[in-house]
Amino acid sequence: MSPHSSGYTGYGTKEVYLQIGMKGISIKSSTLDLIKKYDFRAAKKFGQNFLTDETVLKTIIDCSEISKDDCVLEIGPGMGVLTQILCEKAGRVLAVEIDRKLIPILRVLLFGYENIEIINEDILKLDLKKLLEEKFGSSAVKIVANLPYYITTPIIMKLLEERISLRSITIMVQKEVGERICAAPGSKDYGTLTVAVQYRCIPRKILIVSPESFIPQPEVESMIVRLDFRNKPPVCVEDEKLYFRVVKASFGQRRKTLLNALTAGNLGKTKEELKSVLIRNGIDEKRRGETLSLEEFARIANDISCL
Ligand code: SAM
Repeated sequence: MSPHSSGYTGYGTKEVYLQIGMKGISIKSSTLDLIKKYDFRAAKKFGQNFLTDETVLKTIIDCSEISKDDCVLEIGPGMGVLTQILCEKAGRVLAVEIDRKLIPILRVLLFGYENIEIINEDILKLDLKKLLEEKFGSSAVKIVANLPYYITTPIIMKLLEERISLRSITIMVQKEVGERICAAPGSKDYGTLTVAVQYRCIPRKILIVSPESFIPQPEVESMIVRLDFRNKPPVCVEDEKLYFRVVKASFGQRRKTLLNALTAGNLGKTKEELKSVLIRNGIDEKRRGETLSLEEFARIANDISCL
């Protein structure tokens, strides 16, 4: 039984009335009540913009398609608005929060749920592969989070690089980051983040969210995006490390031609060698890195690895 259904009278009962979706109480007023009750001050340094819009919250939950079969990792539970619903919907939930001041609030709010574990840690410092295997065994994990914007890209890169068994990632990010994740070659938003994400996942834009949906309001618009992990990369790559070095080199000097950017990219090959790679693969040396598709990066990297 949900600890928040009628009849539950344990410690934390008072906070139960602040539960999301309780008749007549909006998330906004319950968040404001919690802030007042605990004399909590949102910390800018932790990117704390708490979600207070029911429609947006419902969209994140609906599009993450969580069921009782799922193990979920939430990054930055904050005041627990998403966490409570995840506890209701998922089999097991692990929530990692850096701000120790939020931990007692979360413990009270989530009291009675037996499928949640809250960890007071910096997500960037955790060995996530080890932790998730310890907590969830071999189950593929779904990530749901309203991410702290000051470290969005490092978090996404960590999730992609640590070889964790993940099924999907449903996240709120800065709109600009959402555009970069979903960009097509040739657009101004296309870059290393795009290629890194699209190599492992199929991204989808879900919803653009205005600053008014948060307390305190961020200075930028936000976007919900969902990333579904591919069974295998969309291109055949012989050496992934080299592939991403080529990608990084190509985007490293945006105003240079592709040949010059690759030459300056410390790939250990001469300009002449790189020129012949491009000729062999029918890629114009004067193009800019941001016009290359994932497949063209693969052709260049695979050819360089044979040199
Ligand atoms: N999930 C809550 C919500 O939707 O209202 C809070 C989202 S708020 C944008 C980001 C949350 O991430 C905050 O609770 C913040 O303290 C936490 N956070 C920031 N940096 C973190 C880090 N390095 N590791 C874990 N949590 C972090």
